[in-house]
Amino acid sequence: MRTRSAWFSVPFLVVLLFQLNCRSRPRIPVVEETTMAMGTFFTIAIYGDVDADSARRAIAAAFDTIRVIESHTSATLPSSDIARLNRHSGKDFVTLWDDLTSMLRMATRVSKASGGAFDITIGAETALWGFEDQPLRPPDSSAVDSCLKLVDYRGLVLDDHRARLLRPGMRLDLGGVAKGWAVDRVFDWLVARGYRDVMVDGGGDFHVASTPLTAGQRHVWVRHPRARGSYFARFKLDNGAVATSGDYERFFIWKGVRYHHILNPATGWPARQAVSVTVVGPSTALCDAWATAVFVLGPEEGLRRIRQQEGLEALVVSADSTGLWWTATDSLARRLEVLDEKARYKKVN
Ligand code: ADP
Ligand code: MG
Repeated sequence: MRTRSAWFSVPFLVVLLFQLNCRSRPRIPVVEETTMAMGTFFTIAIYGDVDADSARRAIAAAFDTIRVIESHTSATLPSSDIARLNRHSGKDFVTLWDDLTSMLRMATRVSKASGGAFDITIGAETALWGFEDQPLRPPDSSAVDSCLKLVDYRGLVLDDHRARLLRPGMRLDLGGVAKGWAVDRVFDWLVARGYRDVMVDGGGDFHVASTPLTAGQRHVWVRHPRARGSYFARFKLDNGAVATSGDYERFFIWKGVRYHHILNPATGWPARQAVSVTVVGPSTALCDAWATAVFVLGPEEGLRRIRQQEGLEALVVSADSTGLWWTATDSLARRLEVLDEKARYKKVN
């Protein structure tokens, strides 16, 4: 665990860079810790005049909570609820940890609202592609096709604290939502404990709350999808959540074509209509799931569906033969400062 309890100074180099611009202002006290969990870095920062020891203890307890969530949701830990449910696919109901059934309910709502573009029953396909093991080439298309019959969110049946996967071989993969869910859980808990100026970052998915001490000073920096180390855009955020899905995090190039880890549930192949999607909203879990959904739907249909969701906004970056172009919901487009001068803006209806 890395501890930095003195003063905020260095921005984080994650998918979204969250920065307090302190140059012309007095420095802001912060208690900040980072740990590794759920295959990424989690950073929690508590700002303001708080008792540093209590804040550090609260952060340690929050990290424990994240590990508990991981122990229930990881498909690769054989003892997790999800691994158990996957082993029982095609058989009977499996009893789950309470929080997990509400996560699955929320994921199912996003599946319905996105017309199946977000689908946690994508597990058979993601296992075939094996992005965890850094593959060098795509699987056979016949294998991709035969896994498709195992992908359908309507085949996940929920009943109080139990779940059942209807077809043998079906598998859940919560990679597109569990991280965001974990961010919200610990964020809500810290706020309930009285911390008012807080940031929780799970590998670039954030939830933040500001007080007058930091208001107006926080920028979310959206990483450039094609130029490592630089940023595509930035916008201010005082309160709320953000998540990003991109094709530049986990990918390989095979015969000149990029293959990445966000799959279209309708085809089993990587989604091609976007290169980066950032969603802003009231909860990180929703933003996380919708970022994946909009990535699959592409700019036109993705924004159309996002506009139907209360409180959600999105930025979509896509590529065509002439380069990158971007579009966004109106209020985000107005707040956004695009840093890539060559990228073109397109309004989509
Ligand atoms: P990251 O985890 O890198 O932030 P995302 O939040 O976009 O990326 O989630 C991608 C992960 O979600 C994949 O690694 C996989 O586990 C899962 N996934 C891939 N495609 C889909 C999909 N269409 N619907 C739901 N989950 C998906
Ligand atoms: Mg996500």
